[in-house]
Amino acid sequence: MTRRALELLCLVALGAVWGWANDSPPWTFAGALLGALVWAIFDGLRARELLNWIAKGEASRAPSLSGTWGELVERCRKLIKKLEKKAQNSDARLEDFLAAIQASPNGVVLLDATGRIEWANLTAANHLGFDPQRDLGQYVRNMVRAPAFTAYLNAADFSYEIQVDGPGPRPSQPSKISLQIHPYGKKRKLMLTRDVTALQLAETMRRDFVANVSHEIRTPLTVLSGFVETMQSIPLEAADRERYLALMSQQAQRMQTLVSDLLTLSRLEGSPAPGAGEWVDGDELLSHVLQEARGLTQAIAHPPHQIEVSEHAALLVSGAKTELLSAMSNLMSNAVRYTPGGGNIRAGWRSTPDGGAQFFVEDTGPGIAAEHLPRLTERFYRVDRSRSRETGGTGLGLAIVKHVAQRHGGQVEVQSTPGQGSTFMIHLPASRIRQRSIA
Ligand code: ADP
Repeated sequence: MTRRALELLCLVALGAVWGWANDSPPWTFAGALLGALVWAIFDGLRARELLNWIAKGEASRAPSLSGTWGELVERCRKLIKKLEKKAQNSDARLEDFLAAIQASPNGVVLLDATGRIEWANLTAANHLGFDPQRDLGQYVRNMVRAPAFTAYLNAADFSYEIQVDGPGPRPSQPSKISLQIHPYGKKRKLMLTRDVTALQLAETMRRDFVANVSHEIRTPLTVLSGFVETMQSIPLEAADRERYLALMSQQAQRMQTLVSDLLTLSRLEGSPAPGAGEWVDGDELLSHVLQEARGLTQAIAHPPHQIEVSEHAALLVSGAKTELLSAMSNLMSNAVRYTPGGGNIRAGWRSTPDGGAQFFVEDTGPGIAAEHLPRLTERFYRVDRSRSRETGGTGLGLAIVKHVAQRHGGQVEVQSTPGQGSTFMIHLPASRIRQRSIA
C-alpha cells in the first residue's frame, strides 16, 4: 500500500474515531468525510506545489515532498535535468555553428518569409553597410538600396549572383560585393555575400595589361609591315634600301626588348624569392653597370654624360646576381636616356643606419613632378612618353626594378625635383648586406 493511501486511511479513521467519540453514527460518518476532505486539501496543495515547480521547469528548485509526490518530484527532476542538459548541448552547438559562420570570410544573412533580417554575420554587415545587432528585424530591401538589388528581389529569380557597391574605404572608392540569394525552408532565404573588389581589380589590371602589350607591339609591327609593303611594291635605290632596313631592324629590336622585358617580369612574378644565394661583391655589380652605362652614353648622347662613382661602401650583397644586375642597369640606363647629353650621373653604394645598404643613381636630368612618383613603378606608366619611345624604353624598366627589390626584401625609393634631376635608390635590408673587409 502506498504511503498516500495510508495517509488517507489514517485521516479517515481519525475523523471516524472523532465522530464515534461523539456517540452517534452520523457523526462517525461525518468525521470520516472530514478526514478525507483534510487529506484531499493537503494532497491538492502538494499537487499544486508540484505543478508550479514543473511549470517553472528548474531542476535545482525541486520542492521537498515525501511519499508518492516525492517520488514524482524526483522523476520529474531527473527528466527536467535531462532536458536542461540537452538544451545546453544544443545551445552550445548553435553557438559553435554561429561562431563558425561569424569567422567565415563570406557574408551570411538569414531572411524571414517577409524579407526581414533575422540574423547576419559581421562580414555580411561590413559588406553591405548595416549593423548586425541594431538592424535585426529590418527589411533587407531598406538596408541595401542598390537598384540592382531591388530589381533582383522584385524579379525573384535567384539562379544567378549580382554585384552591388559596398561601403569601400572612401565613398569615391566603393567595394564590389557579389551577392546571391538561396531560398530554403518555408519561404525563408539565405543570402551569401563575397567581396570581389580585389578580383575585379585584378581583372581590370589583366585587361589593361593585355591592351597595353597589344598596343606596344602593334606600333612597331605597323611600321615594319609598312616598310615591307613599300619594299615589295617600289624598286628602291641601294641607299634607301639600307635606310629602310636600318629602320626595320630598329623596330624589330624594339619588339625584342619588349618581349624580353615581359619575360623577365613574368619570371620575377612567377618564381619564388631568391634565397640568400651567393654573396656578390657590390663593386663588381657597380663596375658592370657603369661600364654598360658608359657604352650607352657614347652611343646615344651628344656630348656623352659624365658618369662617376660618388660614394663607395665596401660590401657584399646576397641574392640573385642576374636580377640585381638587371635592376641596377635599368636605373643606370634610365639616367642616361632621360638626362640630356653632357649631364652628370653619379652612382654608388651607401650603407644605411638600419644595417642595410642602398644602391643609388643620381642624375641632372629633367626631374619628375611629385604626382607621378607613386605611379612610376606601374607597368607601362611613362611620364615622358615620346622620350621613352625615342630611346627604346618599354615602360617596364621600373616595374622590373621594383620586383627585384621586393624579392630581395627591399624597396625602390625616388627623390626628384623637376628641372634639377632625380635620384633612384634600391634599398636592401641588413639581412642581404655584409660589410666587406678591404684588403
Ligand atoms: P621606360 O622604359 O619608359 O624608361 P621605366 O619603367 O624605366 O620605363 O620608367 C618609367 C618612366 O619614368 C619613364 O617613362 C620616364 O618618364 C620616367 N623616368 C624613369 N627614370 C627617369 C629619370 N632618371 N629621369 C626622368 N624620368 C625618368
